[in-house]
Amino acid sequence: MAVSYKHSVSLETEKCKGCTTCLKRCPTEAIRIRDGRAVIRADRCIDCGECIKVCPYKAKKATHDPLCCIGDYKYPVALPAPSLYGQFDRLDNIGYIIRGLKDLGFSDVFEVASAAELVSAYTRLYIKREDVKKPVISSACPAIVRMISTNYPCLLDQVMPILPPMDIAAYLARKKVKELHPELKDEDIGIIFISPCPAKVSYVKNDFAGERNYIDATISVRDVYFALLDVMKKREDEPLEATEAGIIGISWATAGGESTAIFNTSYLAADGIENCIRVLDQIDNSEITDLEFVELNACDGGCVGGAMTVTNPFIAQARLQALKRYLPVSPNRPASEWIPEEFFNKNIIEYNPYNLLSDDKNEAHRMMNEIQNIAKNLPMIDCGSCGAPTCMAFAEDIVKGETTADECTVIMRMLFHEYLKQHKDEAALNKIRGKRGMETKTEDKKE
Ligand code: SF4
Ligand code: SF4
Repeated sequence: MAVSYKHSVSLETEKCKGCTTCLKRCPTEAIRIRDGRAVIRADRCIDCGECIKVCPYKAKKATHDPLCCIGDYKYPVALPAPSLYGQFDRLDNIGYIIRGLKDLGFSDVFEVASAAELVSAYTRLYIKREDVKKPVISSACPAIVRMISTNYPCLLDQVMPILPPMDIAAYLARKKVKELHPELKDEDIGIIFISPCPAKVSYVKNDFAGERNYIDATISVRDVYFALLDVMKKREDEPLEATEAGIIGISWATAGGESTAIFNTSYLAADGIENCIRVLDQIDNSEITDLEFVELNACDGGCVGGAMTVTNPFIAQARLQALKRYLPVSPNRPASEWIPEEFFNKNIIEYNPYNLLSDDKNEAHRMMNEIQNIAKNLPMIDCGSCGAPTCMAFAEDIVKGETTADECTVIMRMLFHEYLKQHKDEAALNKIRGKRGMETKTEDKKE
C-alpha cells in the first residue's frame, strides 16, 4: 500500500472554476474535476508545481513557512538556493544578497551553492566506481525522485545515494554554528531553507533523508525576493560580505549545471517534467545504457523555473550567466576522497506505488479486464469533460466506483440520440437542434 506523503501543493477550492487546465497538464494524472472543482489525488501528486504555474485563476498554491518564522529562532541561519541569485536584475555581487538576508534578521547565511560543489565533487568520485549501475541518476530534484519512487521500481538503485545540496548545506550550517557558538542549544538554531519550488518544501516535510532531515523551516524564493528588494536598496554603499560559492555551485540553479560539474562528457541533462518522463521511460526500457550520469530537473530551465520563483527562468539563467563571470570555478573542495557517512542518503529511495487497483491479485486482474472493456466503448479523445485527464483514467475511475459512465458527455450524447431514435421522436430532436440554431435534417427541410 502507498505510504502517506505530506504534500505542499493544494487547492483553494473557492477560486477554482473547474476549467480543466490543470487536469490536462498534470504529468501524473493526479487531478480530477469533481462537482465542478479540481481535486488532487495525494497518492499520485509529486508536487512538481505544474498546476500552480498553469492555473489561470491562481487556485493552486504551495504551502510553506512564512517569512516571519525567522523570529522563531534565537539564531536563524538562511540557506539560499542558488536560484535566488538569478531573480535580481544587474546583480554583480552575491554579497548584496548575503548582507540583505542578515538585514532581514538572519544571524548567518550558508549558501546551498557551496554544498552543491561538494556534491559535485562526490558525484565525480561515485560515478567512477565500477560496482555502480549506470547511468547514475541525480537525486537533486525531489519531484523526480518521487516520480521514480512511485513509477520506476527498476531505477531505484540508479539514483545517486547522496543527500541533495540543501540537506548537506543544512548539516554543515548547524555544525558550523555549534562550533562558533557552543553556548547555543539545538532548539535555538533554526536552519531555514529558501526554496524555489514546492517539491523541495515537500522533501523537507517528509524527511526523505531517512531519519530527520536537517532543515527546520522552508520559506519561498518569492517572499524573500520581495523582502530583499526593500532592504538591499537602503544600504547600497556599505561593505559587502564575500560569497563562498563558485561557478560550479551557482550553475546548479539551471539545467545542465550539475552535469557539467562532473567533468565528463558522458551525461544527459533534461528539464521540464514531460521531457524527464521520456528520459526515465527510456532508461527503464534499457534504451540509455552508454551514459555515466543523468541530470533531470522537473522544472523548465532547472530550479530557476520553480513555481515559487518570480523571474522568467530564461532571464534568470542569463543573469546567472553574467554573475558567474566574477566568480572562481569552485572554492569548495572536499577534505578527503571519502564521502562522509552523514552525506549518504541511508534511506535509499523505496518503491512507493500509488494506490493499486486491489491488493488481491485476482481482483486486480478482474478490475483491469473491466477497465479494458469499458475503454472499448469510450471515444478515446481525452477531452477531459468527464473530469478525468484521459479516457483510460476515466474507465479506471468507473471501475473504482469513483464516477459513473454518464459523466462522459460523448457517451451521454450517443445514448440520448439512441433513446430518441428508439422512441421515434425525431420532432423532439429537431426541436433541440432548432433551439441551438443548428440545421434540421435535409429530409425534414424538404417536407
Ligand atoms: S486550472 Fe485547475 S485549479 Fe485552476 S481553475 Fe482550472 S480546474 Fe480549477
Ligand atoms: S503538483 Fe504536479 S503532480 Fe501534483 S497535482 Fe499539480 S501538476 Fe499534478
